Amino acid sequence: MMPANIWVYIDQFQGEALSASWETLGAACELGTGLQSKVVALVFGVNAAAIAGEALARGATAALICDDATLADFRVEAYAALLSGLVAARQPHAVLAPATARARELIATAAIDSETTVMADAIGLAVQDGVVLVTRPVYAGKLLCTASGVGGLPLFVTLRPRAFPKPSQGAVAPADAIERVQPALAEGALRVKVTGYDTVAGQVSLTDASIIVSGGRGVGGPEGFGPVRELANVLGGAMGASRAAVDAGWIAYSHQVGQTGKTVAPDLYVACGISGAIQHQAGMRTSKIIVAINKDREAPIFKLAKYGVVGDLFEVLPALSAEVRRRLGR
Ligand code: FAD
Repeated sequence: MMPANIWVYIDQFQGEALSASWETLGAACELGTGLQSKVVALVFGVNAAAIAGEALARGATAALICDDATLADFRVEAYAALLSGLVAARQPHAVLAPATARARELIATAAIDSETTVMADAIGLAVQDGVVLVTRPVYAGKLLCTASGVGGLPLFVTLRPRAFPKPSQGAVAPADAIERVQPALAEGALRVKVTGYDTVAGQVSLTDASIIVSGGRGVGGPEGFGPVRELANVLGGAMGASRAAVDAGWIAYSHQVGQTGKTVAPDLYVACGISGAIQHQAGMRTSKIIVAINKDREAPIFKLAKYGVVGDLFEVLPALSAEVRRRLGR
């Protein structure tokens, strides 16, 4: 008998799927092959049919969509009631979602409603003897833990953005692979109304960024982020920060990387004036290449860094930006 399906929640904002959703779909397709299961994309909210079409083109076998006014904005009550209702009715083998802010909230809530658990922040998935094995960092990234679900309950897993490759788009799949489902809650049952969004123009999202330049207490004040921002801009990357810089009020919390901030895994992470405390490492240690710039050659960040510069960031960063600009012709 074919095992139950693997479901993938496609996180989207205002009709556009997040890149991490496609990475999750790619990982689900690998699992689907290993388990000989179908891979079903779940798309809720505006533009669901178009996003589902892209999911099919990227490897999903089928899609369940719900494009309803109650789901136009992400409201966890509405989304979780829909997801847990579908899980109860159709019993998938696993529900995968990207570890984005919205999807984490959704998966946690729906897992409680489904009386199952969540394996959060996976960086590896495998199938062994028909069992899904989930690898995730624990103890602030000091250890990797591999675990599997027991008890036959649907396995809920969130996947760390940028830890899995994104599948490319293939041929357009047949539209009859898309099934429409009804929302679980009517507007009257919802207690939250979204009144608007504030956008911070021109900023690259930290979790999606392939390059991040971060500043810590070593930048010395808000204006010290100037050279950090400059290098981030020249490289087309995002700007991160340590908690010390955030707590000092030099930069907004949305930039914080670490245990109590964002978890990132860019191709390049440049840590400037950051000592490399374990709580900071927890958010960035899976970055592919880490570069550290620090005055103190004993700073723990150098143990993690592939390249290190012992020096004053106010001298090193402008020189680095100038050289990158020259080489890239910017
Ligand atoms: P410091 O440790 O003070 O390091 C500053 C560094 O800058 C030093 O290494 C110094 O040599 C260098 N420096 C100074 N001047 C220059 C210069 N001109 N040029 C070059 N280098 C220079 N921290 C996080 O970052 N993220 C988190 O999410 C987080 N969560 C936490 C959760 C808990 C429960 C706790 C207890 C702590 C958490 N922290 C977190 C705080 C963490 O323990 C550290 O205090 C913090 O990361 C230190 O930030 P920093 O490296 O910028 O500052």
